[in-house]
Amino acid sequence: MSANTPPPLSVDTDRLLADLQALSAIGAYKSGVHRPTFSPEDLLARAWFAERLAEAGLKPEIDGIGNVIGRALSPRALLVGSHLESQPHAGRLDGPLGLLYGLAAARALRAAGLAPALDVAAWADEEGWFGQFLGSRSFLGEVTDAEIDAARQRSDGTPLRSALAAAGYAGRPRAALPPERYLGYAEAHIEQGDRLESERRRIGVVTAIVGMRNFIITAEGVQNHAGTTRMEIRKDAGLALCKLCVAIDRAFPAATGPGSVWTTGRMRFKPGEPSVIPGHAEMHFQFRDTDPALLDRMAERLAALIAEANDAGPCRLALAPRSTTAPAAMDAGMQQAFAAAAEALAPGAWMRMPSAAGHDAQNFARRMPAAMLFVPSIGGISHHWAEDTSEADIVLGARVFAAGIHRILATS
Ligand SMILES: [Zn+2]
Repeated sequence: MSANTPPPLSVDTDRLLADLQALSAIGAYKSGVHRPTFSPEDLLARAWFAERLAEAGLKPEIDGIGNVIGRALSPRALLVGSHLESQPHAGRLDGPLGLLYGLAAARALRAAGLAPALDVAAWADEEGWFGQFLGSRSFLGEVTDAEIDAARQRSDGTPLRSALAAAGYAGRPRAALPPERYLGYAEAHIEQGDRLESERRRIGVVTAIVGMRNFIITAEGVQNHAGTTRMEIRKDAGLALCKLCVAIDRAFPAATGPGSVWTTGRMRFKPGEPSVIPGHAEMHFQFRDTDPALLDRMAERLAALIAEANDAGPCRLALAPRSTTAPAAMDAGMQQAFAAAAEALAPGAWMRMPSAAGHDAQNFARRMPAAMLFVPSIGGISHHWAEDTSEADIVLGARVFAAGIHRILATS
């Protein structure tokens, strides 16, 4: 070890595992959890987490959008965050693991006699029940009151204002990013894919979070009888979109990189009847990559394929952009701190990798140095109650995360 390597921290991993068990019991569903944002179970989890932050010596606050923030007494700090709510009937680790790692790191720093210059925050609604990244964007000053007024729960339509009032959070101020306080932002998470497992690595140091572009593509044809309309004269809007999907799959590999992914997540035909040729069809299409130039190239290729389809006829296709997130590069210095911690604790068993899923860290990366650490997901399963990570990997991840934070704090 070099002279500037801080001594290793002792992470209380028994307590970490006990915390995980206790938190997973709130809203338990099979081996996972069901904790929609601001459901009774989610509110219990927020209160439970605020108590744990106080026990760790941090000053907890639940703000007007439901963010649970534990602040250190130090004038400057590293910000650690993730989320408590889950997708429907999903895993117990997606979100909570990163928060429990933050908690364990704060305790370890304290146990080592160091004032933990660490704020730990559970950002509300990362999972997008009411709005994507609502809590972290609110903290960064990117959510207006009008957006909150308009937001509804995606499955039962409850207004966000009503949910906040029922939770007892209405009328509280929304916490805002203090200028100059943060050295950076760190988030640990399960990988949610199978890359680490397939490459037999136990830790991932994230290089960048993918950017995503979403589109709605429509086709206009002519609705008619599925029996009496000869094939030669049909204008089948459904078939037009199916052909486009095949054309995309043929053309995209030449326009994309090794990490590019593209998905048609929804296709709808109107009227959607077995004996009616669809007169209108609509598909939701998205692609992701960490390289903005590749995202631009995919967008150009998509537009060209639609133009070709329109030239060939007989239906009229139209492309409408829906939403976009930019790729977020992780900070080189913070990556290096986590890489050094990983190499010290798991020599040769870690790798650098992009995040193919979105995380709150991508919002913080626009405003401060940001980094993410991954642990493996068994079978690459996530957003399902069967999601899991081995106990050995959970424990190793906690140690690497705390050691990485220790290094970042020691060199800041
Ligand atoms: Zn998550």
